[in-house]
Amino acid sequence: MDYKKKISVIVPCFNEEESLLAFNQTLFRYLPEMYCYEIIYVNDGSRDKTLPIILSLAKENTSVKYISFSRNFGHQNALKAGYDFASGDCAICLDADLQHPPEVIPELIAKWEEGFEIVNTIRKDHNSISAKKKLSSQIFYKLMRSLSDVQIETGMADFRLVDKKVLKQLNLFRENFLFFRGIIPWMGFRQANIEFKANERFAGTTKYTVKKMLTFAITGVTAFSIKPLRLSIYIGSFIAMLSFLYGLYAVIFFLFTDKVITGWTSVIISVLFVGGINLLMLGVIGEYLGKIFIENKRRPNYLISESNLFQV
Ligand code: UDP
Ligand code: MG
Repeated sequence: MDYKKKISVIVPCFNEEESLLAFNQTLFRYLPEMYCYEIIYVNDGSRDKTLPIILSLAKENTSVKYISFSRNFGHQNALKAGYDFASGDCAICLDADLQHPPEVIPELIAKWEEGFEIVNTIRKDHNSISAKKKLSSQIFYKLMRSLSDVQIETGMADFRLVDKKVLKQLNLFRENFLFFRGIIPWMGFRQANIEFKANERFAGTTKYTVKKMLTFAITGVTAFSIKPLRLSIYIGSFIAMLSFLYGLYAVIFFLFTDKVITGWTSVIISVLFVGGINLLMLGVIGEYLGKIFIENKRRPNYLISESNLFQV
């Protein structure tokens, strides 16, 4: 009997009761037959019927596996769990809402068979994506590129294939503030990009609230570079230089005129301005300090309460 290569499909799910059945059906329709599969649903602390639905899918089909978290740990940690336990010759991760179209999976596999070890996908925006999402994603990727040292292409999605070699290396990552879209380009290996058109969310609403998105953006930058800290040196020096010039002007003004009491406006403006910049930079330093604090605890990225892959 021929050895069939095994492909792991990782699907993070957070309150996806409305999409899951349709997703599962569509997924199986597009999985090429010459491979065997394990579908790993990672239930990220859903509060709806997501878990019972996954359990029933697992009952019907032995290739359906699941890992259920004890609470919501976030999308990136759900991906990490999938990567940690995937046992395939390669692993593909995609969203449960059908925005990452399963019909692209055969293309990902074809690239892998060509010899690429990582196959990334780039989302090409079109009308199905809301203007708000388009704009925020444009700003996000621009910011990421200018503030961090990795070159992330605009539209890079958490929809990708990685070879088992890469999976093994991913297991070595023990950081709490995960940002796979940065880690993956940083890893090297033979990488290919393919484009896809995102569908509209099949059902339900986005699980990335504005707050989650903002946290994600700050993590993206601060987990990846110390440029913001360096920026504070530049801004600090620039302001120090301006203050020096202004101080010079004030001294001359004091020495050669008798109208020293005027200038309240400029004093209050500079005090507020410098105070504001100071607070901002303290915030930046605090952000890094906080990350060091949390990373230092070496807490696990997620806690598992149930699974059919292993004994919990
Ligand atoms: N997700 C998750 N945990 C979270 C937020 C999201 O596992 O805390 C999952 C979600 O179920 C979906 C994927 O991550 O499968 C992407 O989330 P979503 O579609 O809400 O984000 P968007 O596509 O709007 O960026
Ligand atoms: Mg989505």
